[in-house]
Amino acid sequence: MALSIFKCIYCNKEYDIQEIRYRCECGDLLEVIHDLSQSIPNPNDWKKSLDGQMADIAFRRYQAVLFPSLPEDKLITLFEGDTPLYDVTHSIPRFKSIKLKHEGLNPTLSFKDRGMVAGVSWANHLGCENVICASTGDTSAAMAAYAAAAPNMKGIVLLPKGKISPEQLAQSISFGALTIGIETDFDGCMNLVQELTQKHKIYLLNSMNPVRIEGQKAIGIETLHQLNWQVPDWFVIPVGNAGNISALGKGLRELYELGIIDKLPRLAGIQTEGASPLFESFKNGYTKLVPQKAKPTKASAIQIGDPVSYKKAIRELKHFDGVVEAVSEKELMDWKAQIDRLGISICPNSSVAVAGAMKLNRDGVIKENEDVVVILTAHGSKFSNTSVEYHKNSVNQFANQTHTIPPNLKNLESVLNL
Ligand SMILES: [Zn+2]
Repeated sequence: MALSIFKCIYCNKEYDIQEIRYRCECGDLLEVIHDLSQSIPNPNDWKKSLDGQMADIAFRRYQAVLFPSLPEDKLITLFEGDTPLYDVTHSIPRFKSIKLKHEGLNPTLSFKDRGMVAGVSWANHLGCENVICASTGDTSAAMAAYAAAAPNMKGIVLLPKGKISPEQLAQSISFGALTIGIETDFDGCMNLVQELTQKHKIYLLNSMNPVRIEGQKAIGIETLHQLNWQVPDWFVIPVGNAGNISALGKGLRELYELGIIDKLPRLAGIQTEGASPLFESFKNGYTKLVPQKAKPTKASAIQIGDPVSYKKAIRELKHFDGVVEAVSEKELMDWKAQIDRLGISICPNSSVAVAGAMKLNRDGVIKENEDVVVILTAHGSKFSNTSVEYHKNSVNQFANQTHTIPPNLKNLESVLNL
């Protein structure tokens, strides 16, 4: 077979990887399939060769398993990856070990950079000078940054009018993406993106593009490399559109098939109680997905009622004996505060996964003698208002604009209990 192809996850129809295509003719999702026996003829030699390459960027280091078809000179990188794997077992002594893989320490402060290095590089390879996505948050920031880093590439971002905060706008505007407010909601923007990309040579970089998944596989692969290929019992990850858990599963599956790892971890996908279509589907044995009207949550990046990558995600969950859980707003914000207090700044979407790990531990699903890795998806700085609001009545109340003190020593001593 060719080194890489597109294959439909439903009808198995195959397409040339060089074709600009986002969905199968039958309408279902595509995925990228590589013949890894070509790119990695000897898995043991490949594994050994990695140790001499830690100075290289993550995408290039793992490219033979991530996306071997991408020509080397087409790579557009901002030195994403090599994110820290924090061991917080001493602070949270509920497991044999618990480590946090902080994807918020990527160039645009979210895990989306891992997929965009693949997506934008592939657009560069295909000669597309315009790339587009509909988004209000991390996806547009990442796409805009990588488009800016590419020669002769323009990023276009469609945003639903009136649902955009300055924080969310700042990155895509400053990276130079043409940012257009549309008088509709997110789905309306998404429909326009699809219509436009069918008609014009503008490359679509929303999560239905299967190439992005290939870049995101690096998160799990790099984690295992950091663990010297010792596979933990669990990977715990937040779930919104379900692309990230699909990528994690696909990457680990491919490593296992190559014999790079000798066991499979279990996967736990975590949602919020108000946006939990995958959790409901898990409870009914994945018999069907009932789309929800997702309720507002502090974890706004995963406020999604009809996940695009649902079918891919349940395939991985079944393969990895996975579970799905949902957590409350209080649980996720309390755990965000606890992780922040360790000096590790995380977003509310990431803390959904942390809170989920604790809930699964309490319910006896994740046991005390097990090794756990939690994937954190973005940095706390993307959600600064959330933190200020959470702490406004706490010990830090004097930081609040409405709780200041007059400038004299006595008052300061009194606040400091001196
Ligand atoms: Zn198909």
